[in-house]
Amino acid sequence: MKRDYYEILGVQKNASENDLKKAYRKLAMQYHPDRNPDNKGAEEKFKEAAEAYEVLRDPEKRNLYDTYGHEGLKSTGFTGFRGFEDIFTSFGDIFEDFFGFGTRKRERTYAQAGADLRYDLEISFMDAVKGKETEIEIEKYENCVNCNGSGAAPGTEPTICPLCRGSGQVTRSQGFFHISTTCHHCHGEGRVIKDPCKECRGTGNIKRKRGLYVKIPPGVDTGSTLRLKGEGEEGKRGGPHGDLYVVLRVKEHEFFQRDGYDIICQVPISFSQAALGAEIEVPTLNDTEKLTIPRGTQTGKILKLEGAGIPHVRGYGRGNQIIQVVVKTPTKLTKRQEELLKELSEISGEEVRHKEKGFFRRS
Ligand SMILES: [Zn+2]
Ligand SMILES: [Zn+2]
Repeated sequence: MKRDYYEILGVQKNASENDLKKAYRKLAMQYHPDRNPDNKGAEEKFKEAAEAYEVLRDPEKRNLYDTYGHEGLKSTGFTGFRGFEDIFTSFGDIFEDFFGFGTRKRERTYAQAGADLRYDLEISFMDAVKGKETEIEIEKYENCVNCNGSGAAPGTEPTICPLCRGSGQVTRSQGFFHISTTCHHCHGEGRVIKDPCKECRGTGNIKRKRGLYVKIPPGVDTGSTLRLKGEGEEGKRGGPHGDLYVVLRVKEHEFFQRDGYDIICQVPISFSQAALGAEIEVPTLNDTEKLTIPRGTQTGKILKLEGAGIPHVRGYGRGNQIIQVVVKTPTKLTKRQEELLKELSEISGEEVRHKEKGFFRRS
């Protein structure tokens, strides 16, 4: 047996439109599912009040009800509400009114931070060692200027989604559980756009290319990441910008290799330089430096130039330059050079192979 609609709302038969709204508002607030989770009684009262208000606020339906009672409404096809979703969809504007969503509050509530972006940058070995300021071009979404990022055609505004009341989530109770799902009406946005902006097709953002200066500090290596605060995508509705992460990859150098903050290189010297000792010029990161090869240096010997390595990316000091000496065996000899080498081996009492006559023996 259905209760009388006027009785449900607690108003007189001659209640004005305003009286009805006030009465319904009070009940809707009292029995709202957000305030009465898992309360079947409240749920029934909430639905009942919504049905009563839905009928009485419509002059045609109210007239039918006044004349024929509940029976009279059957001819209109009105069957009440199936569930909360129905109620929120029909009364969206009213709920917005009831719960007082002001524009400013809305901005804050629905602010969304911009996404972080990643940019991979390849740099030369020397740029990594010495640092560099370079320009990169990134593509990112920015708020559409035409609609100010709202996605709604200029002059219109997105409205709070009546189903989830702007949260983007719908919570249902199933036994002991509350199950939150993305609101299907607004796809989790919390707002719905009736008249989309033509520039951005309602998305509120447009992809743009932007040039940006990046300062690479000296000493970076492959995998070093530079964080450019606020250079990611723009936030929505007043939300903060995302950050841009520039991930570096350092190209190999033909002469130098890196080991932490040390650099390693191989320096060829001749047999005579190795035997007699010498002073040679060695390429360094900045220029060249004089290096003393001690008398009797063996191939593979490690020499060090202190502080000629890579600067520490944070803090002071630099690594060293590690020099691996390689004694080169001559391959092209002049006649005179060959004679001298033969003489040397003779004096040393060594056996060497003669070019034409096979082995050449000491006499
Ligand atoms: Zn737009
Ligand atoms: Zn929604």
